Formats: sequence, structure tokens, C-alpha cells
Amino acid sequence: MRHVTILGATGSIGINTLDVIRRHPDRFSVYALTANANVDEMARLCLEFQPRVAVMADPSAAEKLAEALSSRCNTQVLGGPEALCEVASAAQADTVMAAIVGAAGLPPTLAAVGAGKRVLLANKEALVMSGRLFMDAVQASGAELLPIDSEHNAIFQCLPPSMARDMGAAGVRRILLTASGGPFRSHSAEALREVSPAQACAHPNWSMGQKISVDSATLMNKGLELIEACWLFNTVPDNIEVHVHPESIIHSMVEYLDGSVLAQLGSPDMRTPIANGLAWPERIDAGVAPLDLFALGKFHFERPDLTRFPCLRLAAEAFKAGGTAPAVLNAANEEAVAAFLAEQLCFADIPVVIERTLAAMPVMPADDFDTIFLQDQLARAKAQEQIRRQLV
Ligand code: NAD
Ligand code: MG
Repeated sequence: MRHVTILGATGSIGINTLDVIRRHPDRFSVYALTANANVDEMARLCLEFQPRVAVMADPSAAEKLAEALSSRCNTQVLGGPEALCEVASAAQADTVMAAIVGAAGLPPTLAAVGAGKRVLLANKEALVMSGRLFMDAVQASGAELLPIDSEHNAIFQCLPPSMARDMGAAGVRRILLTASGGPFRSHSAEALREVSPAQACAHPNWSMGQKISVDSATLMNKGLELIEACWLFNTVPDNIEVHVHPESIIHSMVEYLDGSVLAQLGSPDMRTPIANGLAWPERIDAGVAPLDLFALGKFHFERPDLTRFPCLRLAAEAFKAGGTAPAVLNAANEEAVAAFLAEQLCFADIPVVIERTLAAMPVMPADDFDTIFLQDQLARAKAQEQIRRQLV
């Protein structure tokens, strides 16, 4: 029996994780669920899954949750960001799904890593921000880090298990990272200035949280994933080629020196990589419908257009610059996306804000987490200046 904590239980990944867990009561029990402020959804989840602990990052939401649950279940309710780290490292759980969105997920994900858990990593921002420090922490604690991002889970499945961190020994030539291209793949540069948050969040193949949906539309999601792949698989951007594949059926590929290309295919349903991570190395039913290749008929591939979608280029450059640059990229992107969702910034200005923030912040060595958190805060302030400038 695996005892699971889900960080970000009320989100898209959290709900999909609970759906897989619900199908296998003999394999998984829920130790803790966490969320930010959505009390109604959390109350519903607590009543169904009866976790030992529920955490609301927002303390006033924790009070409301405690009231809502009162005598209806035995779940202990905690509040505040420190409580996230407490449940992430608690001895009662062996598996932690890291599915908080954005930089807020880094401290609890690190707490799970430090405690040597099986960490199912959906929260790519945590790894992008702290790259080498994060991977060093995994190595030091012996945590079992399994990728949940569909592309990285696909690559993981296409690599020999014992060699997932040593591309040379595994005989790998390249990683072919697939991308849907997002809802604006065919939009002109002019049309990109006019798109609304609702259009950006209507992804053609995947149903996801708002932030990652906007990231998919700008291709920053692929940029973050490029950095994520470099850290997870110990490689560099030059060994990774992004392939836009609008059908989102091939979730990524690994090309070997002998010319073999191994791919992982499946319906665009996050329950597949989630079930893979939860049960690894076993396979379990994820509730995903079988793939119907006859109905699909054809696959298409194109190169990404870095002129209309500069975010992918900015991410590759930030990884190459190293140090604190990826943390700055991530923070500026989070601020720009939030401003776009609040209709304070036009879609095409998201990369402008990020590029100017990166230009304004000297790259520093990322030798400790305090530096990362400080640069994250400074980058947010710089990005806000840029956002205000775009407004006038
Ligand atoms: P979401 O917005 O649907 O859910 C986010 C969750 O994080 C919610 O439970 C929310 O309560 C919690 N949260 C938000 N801010 C918080 C804070 N400050 N403190 C504590 N908790 C907070 O997001 P999602 O789509 O489920 O994505 C979660 C993560 O998984 C992201 O990093 C995303 O990039 C990654 N991911 C998602 C998908 C997908 O299909 N949705 C695919 C691959 C990777
Ligand atoms: Mg992905």
C-alpha cells in the first residue's frame, strides 16, 4: 500500500491523481491533501477520501474548511505555507504528488525530496527555478523522482530505466520533445495581439489549469519543459529538438545512435503519466480509453516558429546563461501570465516583459536556495515595472 500526499489536490493534476487513486483502493491511501483557497472543492475531496490531514495554504481558508468539515470527518485541518512542507515530509506518507502551480510549489516539493519520498513531479516550475540544487537534493536524500509532465514521462518510458540519467551510456543521440503548438499555432503575429485569456485557456487537446494553458499558448510551457528535460535527463538544449505535433498523441521520443527512435503514444489524458508514476514499475488501469489510431489516421510534425513564439528561445537562452537566469525567467513569466489573465497585458507582450526582465537582472551563481528565492522576488518586482510600462 502506498500512502500518498497530494500537493495541489484541487487542481487539474490533483483531481486526475485522485481519479486514479479512486480506482485502486487496494494500492493507494491518501494521507494528506493540500490546496490554496478553494474550500468547497477541498471539503468535497476530504469527505470522499478521508485524508488524515488537509492543508489550506491560505490560513483563513483553513478556518473555513475546519468549519465546513467540523464533525463530518476526522481530517485534521492545518493552514499556512509551512504546513505544506510539514505534510510533504511527514513520515506517514511515502509518495508525494507535487502538483502546485508555480514557484509556490518549490518549498513543499523540496521538503518531500529532502525526506527521501517518491516524488511525482508535475510542478515543473520548481525544477526550472532551482535546477542543479534540486537535482543535488534528490541525489543527497535518495528520493525517487519520477516525471509526470507527459513529455518527460514519455522520455522516461523510452529510456532504459537504469540509465535515465546517463544519455551517453544509454546510446542516446537526441530527445525529440513534442509540443501541441497550442491554440494559436496558426495565428499571425498581428492576430496574436488580439487574443483573449478565454481563447488562450481553450487548449485544443488538453484540459489544464489556467497558467499552464497560457504557457502552452505562448510556447513558454515548451521552454520550461526544455529546461526540465535538461535537468531530469542530464543533457543540454542542443541535444533536444522540439517537434510541433498538433495531435498530441506522441508524447515525446528518444533517438538512439543506431537510428532507432522510441516513442510513447497515448490519448492526451494526464491519468496515463500519473498512473505510471504512482505504480511504477508496475502498470495499472488509469481509466484512459484505448487509443484509436484508425480514427486518428494521420500525424503531423512542424518546426516551432520562434519569431511568433519567442518564449521557447528565451527559455533555451536562460538555461544556457545558467545560474539564476531560469529562476528569473520563471518569475517574470508567472507575473506576465497573471497580468495577461487579469487583462492588464496583451498576449504578445508576455515575451516582451520576460525578455526585458531578464535583460535587467544580472545572472548570478545559484549556489543556495536563498539566492533563488531572493532573485525570484526581485524578478517579480522588475517584471511588474515592465508590465506597468507596457500599459502606458
Ligand atoms: P491548477 O491551477 O489546476 O491547480 C493548481 C493547484 O495548486 C491547486 O490545487 C491550487 O489550490 C494549488 N495552489 C495554487 N497556488 C498555490 C499556493 N500559492 N500555495 C499552495 N497551493 C497553491 O494547475 P494544474 O494544471 O493542475 O498544474 C499544476 C502543475 O502541474 C503546474 O506546475 C503545471 O505546469 C504542471 N502540469 C500540469 C499539467 C496539466 O495537464 N494540468 C500537465 C503537465 C504539468
Ligand atoms: Mg507537458
